[in-house]
Amino acid sequence: MFRRARIENLKEISEKGDYVLYWVHASPRCSYNPALEFSIEKSLELGIPLLIIFIIDENYKEANIRHYRFLLEGLEDFRRDLNERDLDLKIFRGDSAGIIPKLQKRAAVIITDKNYIGPQNEWIEKISEKLECSLYIVETNISVPVREITDKEEYSAATFRKKYWKKAHEYLDHESNNENMRCGFFFENLEGEIESGEIENILDQLNIADGIGTSKFKGGYKRAKEELNLFIEKKLENYPEYRNYPNLDYLSNMSPYLHFGQISPVEIARVVAEKGTKNFESYLEELLIRRELAINFCFYNPNYDNFEGLHSWSKKTLNEHRNDEREHIYSFEDFENCRTHDVYWNAAQKEMIITGKMHGYMRMYWGKKILEWSETPEKGIAVAIRLNNKYELDGRDPNGYAGVMWCFGKHDRAWSERSVFGKIRYMNSAGLKRKFDVDSYVEKIMNLQENL
Ligand SMILES: Cc1cc2nc3c(=O)[nH]c(=O)nc-3n(C[C@H](O)[C@H](O)[C@H](O)COP(=O)(O)OP(=O)(O)OC[C@H]3O[C@@H](n4cnc5c(N)ncnc54)[C@H](O)[C@@H]3O)c2cc1C
Repeated sequence: MFRRARIENLKEISEKGDYVLYWVHASPRCSYNPALEFSIEKSLELGIPLLIIFIIDENYKEANIRHYRFLLEGLEDFRRDLNERDLDLKIFRGDSAGIIPKLQKRAAVIITDKNYIGPQNEWIEKISEKLECSLYIVETNISVPVREITDKEEYSAATFRKKYWKKAHEYLDHESNNENMRCGFFFENLEGEIESGEIENILDQLNIADGIGTSKFKGGYKRAKEELNLFIEKKLENYPEYRNYPNLDYLSNMSPYLHFGQISPVEIARVVAEKGTKNFESYLEELLIRRELAINFCFYNPNYDNFEGLHSWSKKTLNEHRNDEREHIYSFEDFENCRTHDVYWNAAQKEMIITGKMHGYMRMYWGKKILEWSETPEKGIAVAIRLNNKYELDGRDPNGYAGVMWCFGKHDRAWSERSVFGKIRYMNSAGLKRKFDVDSYVEKIMNLQENL
């Protein structure tokens, strides 16, 4: 398990420390949380209590009320589960750069969990050498630590898959979930701590711009497990056949919970493999290969969110077709407000706005059409990422960046050449009609809107 922990600085464990500090960032959950287990083990080894904290930063890049609510619902579950293990969670409001330097003064060691993108990484790079004690980062939200699979960006799922399966069983088969581990916790009131209370109270205290409705999904480990059990009982068997039918409901809905670290991919994979009587391979292909390929992309490619991050063949072909005439060009506001000529595209955009989760198959069509109807590929990528990050509960995630970039050729091969797209794979509404009953999908979304 502790092969997942990596020391980030050259500092020793501080002998005068009052506590082990577990700064939860990416995996607020008790189940299958190797960072929590590592923290408990350190606390027992050093004979000092464990201080578990979460910092809510109201200015977190691109986060809005929909995201904060889901996050806080998850924190409530997490705190309750910790309490059942005689541990506690302290929530702070502010930014990490202000809070961690104060708390670290009394810490023997700091342990945190890993994010592959986002502000935490930049901050850790800046601060880790200035800390007075050692800092460990634990890879909690991935089945195999990112560097273990390969030391470079992989070209496609085909090249990634082989390397992944060489390592995966070491991790998937032997991962522990030691829910009985116990240690003392740190209980003194600390400056800046948010008083505990209902979610609405905490949301009221925070200074977050509203303007986007909540999602139909409720956050937290408990809800994640309910969704997972429902998926296994009712949907998994037909997942390979129906997963690309947006008019039906055959997906697992795990992505928001995975994004917020409220459930572990290892737990999902193990439960699905154990309980799924058949057809679980195609699900594991998405959960393990596609998801971790996206992490590989964002981890090794600093241009994961822009044109430069594409394969050279994609850039070449898109450049060759840069000046092709576009039949339609829409602005960000047109896209955002569902003002295109295409009823199917508008329905997909509405689904995302209303529910916080667009069906996976429609996401491909949605992204391809943004390529087709944008003035340049650069603008198309920027629009798709901005909308995805704003409205999707699972947005701001490696999967979101890889998904958008896939629409522009990433992890794909060249197809036959055509206007605007060049050799990038094309999708059109006739394809939607051939594949599934797209009109009943539109109807489903219209009903959602009417019932708002
Ligand atoms: C333009 C575009 C944008 C996308 N944006 C996001 C995003 O912001 N966040 C996000 O998590 N996914 C994103 N995806 C990938 C995929 O559509 C979603 O992961 C999936 O629809 C989530 O629903 P689910 O959990 O019910 O999926 P299921 O089909 O039940 O899959 C289970 C899990 O497998 C993984 N998975 C499934 N499909 C993919 C895929 N194509 N690539 C990588 N991992 C996959 C996810 O972790 C998912 O939760 C995007 C895809 C595209 C084409």
